Amino acid sequence: MKTNSSEKESTGSPFGGGGGLYIHIPFCKQACHYCDFHFSTSLKKKGKLVEMLCRELVLRKNELNSPEIQTIYFGGGTPSLLEAEELQQIFETIYANYKIAENPEITLEANPDDLTEEKLKMLKASKINRLSIGVQSFFEEDLKLMNRAHNSEEALKSIKLAKSYFDNISIDLIYGIPGMSAERWQRNIEISLELGVPHISSYALTVEPNTALQKFIERGKIKPVDDEAAKLHFEILVETLTKNGFEHYEFSNFGKPDYFSENNTAYWLGKPYLGIGPAAHSYDGDSRKWNISNNPLYIKALENDKIPQETETLSLSDKYNEYVMTRLRTKFGVELAEVSGKFGEKYKAHFLELAKPLQKEDLLREQNGIYHITSKGKFLSDGIAADLFFLD
Ligand code: SF4
Repeated sequence: MKTNSSEKESTGSPFGGGGGLYIHIPFCKQACHYCDFHFSTSLKKKGKLVEMLCRELVLRKNELNSPEIQTIYFGGGTPSLLEAEELQQIFETIYANYKIAENPEITLEANPDDLTEEKLKMLKASKINRLSIGVQSFFEEDLKLMNRAHNSEEALKSIKLAKSYFDNISIDLIYGIPGMSAERWQRNIEISLELGVPHISSYALTVEPNTALQKFIERGKIKPVDDEAAKLHFEILVETLTKNGFEHYEFSNFGKPDYFSENNTAYWLGKPYLGIGPAAHSYDGDSRKWNISNNPLYIKALENDKIPQETETLSLSDKYNEYVMTRLRTKFGVELAEVSGKFGEKYKAHFLELAKPLQKEDLLREQNGIYHITSKGKFLSDGIAADLFFLD
């Protein structure tokens, strides 16, 4: 059910523990060809937008039904475009209006071309304690094809520099890029290992509707994405990283012990979070809300103390389907006792019935009442989860 609403709704959450704050910074220097996130390449309204983010933080300060905030995540867009004063303004508003846990994880997504020594010093002096760097590839041809704002030299240099200021660093890498050989992909992973980053998030390049990438492929300017190559790259990724001490704790995420993303893990475990800024999503265990994906309209609404957002109330089947989908992508798996506890015997019987053929095909395995996807099924996890969905 979708409703247009800026009204505060019931935030009763079935999940305990702390919540998360997500802050969306909707600006980028230039548009990457594959990207369908919400951002603007005009930075003129950045100051005004930060002011409105702070206003939204204040207006929604009682919305999250959680004793305290455990994680804060600056995503985008490109949060590393924030100036010191803008970051300070946001932190001052957060700390004045929210109860923050003692050792919160505070992540900022950064692009390599922004990570100068001066910027890193500024970030280190702020409350940020984790960087997620959008490297995507260490090779010039891949970066050019994707229209990234940085080059391969900046990719390397930014990580080396960042390591002298931050210990908790994650990098993003993209595989399945047209023209990327298995050898080049393997080299990307090896360079990451040589640089000593403790966390890697890695995604297959997907062709989203209405992106420049889609148009270039249609016009034959870029070769289509090859699913078989992407599958091979994924296998190389899993094998190389697990051999080198990384745990594959979620389909796209690999971490050394003690370096898993707390923010993402909380999300996969169904913890509540509040999303601030244009296009940001919020979740309270019962409903999902999302803010308008338009900077001028967002600013205008907030100037009138309105939150421009829509709400979708989740049915029990929606919650069960989301639980199955997120858990099967993670090392936590689907716990049968949790399925009956949270959703009831009907859902447990449904799960058991539909799990049988998947177990026979060796795509799903059960141990001590917990179901995990097998290595054979790993690349197919979303499809396997969909086979287990409850359709009303
Ligand atoms: S920097 Fe990130 S958010 Fe911005 S266009 Fe590129 S992929 Fe999209």
